[in-house]
Amino acid sequence: MTSFRANENGAARIIILGAGLAGLYAAYLLKRAGRPVLVLEARDRIGGRVDTRRTEDGMYYEMGGEWVGENDQLLRNLCKEFALPLKNHRLTTQFFHKGVHIGPGAWEPAKKLRDTIASFVARFPDLSNEEVARLQNIDWWHFLVKEGVPREDAELLDLVRSTDFGEDMRFVPAYDVLYDYVVGGDSDHGCSERIEGGSSLLAEALATRVGTEHIICSAEITSVVQTGRRVKATTRDGRVFEGVRLVAAIPTLAVSTMQWTPMLPPEREAAFDELVYCRITKTALVCSKRFWKDDAFELITDRISHQIYHATQGEPGEGGVLISYATGDGAVTMARMSEAERIDELCAALQGLFGDIRPFIRSVTTYAWGDDPYTGGAYPLFERADRTTIKNLFPLPHGLVHFAGEHTARRYGFMEGAIESGARVAEEIIRAETIYS
Ligand SMILES: Cc1cc2nc3c(=O)[nH]c(=O)nc-3n(C[C@H](O)[C@H](O)[C@H](O)COP(=O)(O)OP(=O)(O)OC[C@H]3O[C@@H](n4cnc5c(N)ncnc54)[C@H](O)[C@@H]3O)c2cc1C
Repeated sequence: MTSFRANENGAARIIILGAGLAGLYAAYLLKRAGRPVLVLEARDRIGGRVDTRRTEDGMYYEMGGEWVGENDQLLRNLCKEFALPLKNHRLTTQFFHKGVHIGPGAWEPAKKLRDTIASFVARFPDLSNEEVARLQNIDWWHFLVKEGVPREDAELLDLVRSTDFGEDMRFVPAYDVLYDYVVGGDSDHGCSERIEGGSSLLAEALATRVGTEHIICSAEITSVVQTGRRVKATTRDGRVFEGVRLVAAIPTLAVSTMQWTPMLPPEREAAFDELVYCRITKTALVCSKRFWKDDAFELITDRISHQIYHATQGEPGEGGVLISYATGDGAVTMARMSEAERIDELCAALQGLFGDIRPFIRSVTTYAWGDDPYTGGAYPLFERADRTTIKNLFPLPHGLVHFAGEHTARRYGFMEGAIESGARVAEEIIRAETIYS
């Protein structure tokens, strides 16, 4: 076995790019296994797409990853390990669709819709190659209409599910939606629980265990060079860090804009270039009073503010936060608006239910993930038919460089996938070092 004690120039250490959940979890496991690690993070904070914001009076809400799904077992186990309790965050959906209000929980999906989904989910592991190809080449909306699901149900389900996929369902392959039902559970919407105190607590718990002295923020890596048994990462401002292996736990846009020496093989470079992340703009409306009353309040509309839900469910105090979750083109329109225009949009969307809400608005915060410099979006949308081919290329090592991040995982697009990939890459490195030492 190689000795992993760090020498003076840190040459035995493993460099990890990205202090999102994937990079931090990999660092935590590697450190626990006795490997010296150094995490380099481009932003001035850890957490990546997990970003809990706090108000002056102690409320918190999420601008990034929020819900812990029913089947997110790795994430649930990790929260348990770090004594981070989960709390209920289920919502009761009501709609404004084509100007008609459908009250809380009043939409009963047609039996045809439920049966269609259930029958495909049951057969999913045994689908023939022809069926898989068909489902990859048809979008969710056309699939439902072709299956004979009533239009009204297809449209309402589209509004709901486009908040999960982040783009209009006419761009999302039916295969991906069915896959999500298979791995994510049978709820239409995946909203079940969240981390009490905020998702960022998980990132902070990991960072504490890695040791904050082993994490450097504001260190955007622009080039990675492998020579012999060393790998060097250079920041935009010219700092150089060296290690024996490197984990790139960064989104695909960050991989494809970085200089790699030796270069990535062409088909892998093409895969990193190609993956599109959905556009989501979150707008948080901090209010002095919870005028919506229902703790589980969620309104889904066909306006650009799209989904508006109560984000401070179960938190004490008079005030509360509503979040608008705009997707696709709507997300871009919301992002390009002035703050006053965004407030107008939200007031108009809620007017029919609550009248004039303006007197209750204390502040507004917006984050447009489509404009994020490192992801260019919120989470992946595999538009192309041969998604399996490109997906299988992401986790492959490239010499001394290993890849992690939710996009490399089975449960891609979720915090669970980030954790899954951190575990996989740590094991991969430990195995590789054992073989080659
Ligand atoms: C709006 C939104 C809502 C979401 N909702 C949910 C949800 O409800 N439930 C759920 O489970 N998941 C949700 N997710 C997804 C979840 O947040 C992500 O899947 C997960 O956090 C990704 O973790 P990661 O470590 O793979 O990537 P990231 O969190 O993106 O971490 C990568 C890190 O690498 C850094 N980086 C990038 N380039 C460089 C570079 N060149 N040099 C150094 N560092 C670099 C980035 O700054 C970032 O910190 C949501 C995401 C968003 C954006």
